[in-house]
Amino acid sequence: MEKTLVIASNNKGKIAEIKRIVEKAGWNTVSAKEIGIDGEAEENGKSFEENAEIKARYVMKRCKTATIADDSGLCVDALNGAPGIYSARYAPGTDDDRIDKLLSELRGVEDRTARFVSVICCLFPNGEKIVVRGECEGEIAFERHGTGGFGYDPIFISELGAFGELTAEQKDSISHRGKALEKFKEEFLKRNDTL
Ligand code: IMP
Repeated sequence: MEKTLVIASNNKGKIAEIKRIVEKAGWNTVSAKEIGIDGEAEENGKSFEENAEIKARYVMKRCKTATIADDSGLCVDALNGAPGIYSARYAPGTDDDRIDKLLSELRGVEDRTARFVSVICCLFPNGEKIVVRGECEGEIAFERHGTGGFGYDPIFISELGAFGELTAEQKDSISHRGKALEKFKEEFLKRNDTL
């Protein structure tokens, strides 16, 4: 049976990653916008888990189809975990502006360890819920590397190199979102009969 998942996001980079990982497992995906759901929930949760569920619920209520949402961010140790759940709103403007702000906050800072976190929440019309988390450890670079990916990718150095310089397959194999979606697939398959 073919499964369709609605992706509750307007972030093009995120949608592309979720689509390519989830479609490999045989699911169909559509973004909320593609099925006419405009607007977004207010992300007023206090954790990645709360925000992922808020986003998924906003869309699931409107389409009554299994809906997946990702809440993610970059947590920098020297900044006590910031920008964290506020990564998308860390500075007004573009991804580039937010990278500039982070690099300037870390000017002169030697300890640059950080991790990307992704929490995936999938809500089903029968009331079931799957919530999984993936993390990817790395360091914040001193300058940009590469033009691939989105968001903070050019300044995040992973075990395979800067996210901005990795191929899509390389990034998916170690990224926070890749790990979370692998867990999601396992959970889904365990419960397949009831969903
Ligand atoms: P939100 O989940 O919509 O609140 O936004 C997450 C934000 O975290 C994105 O807008 C990016 O700035 C950042 N982010 C999350 N995942 C990634 C990633 O894989 N690469 C680069 N930046 C990311």
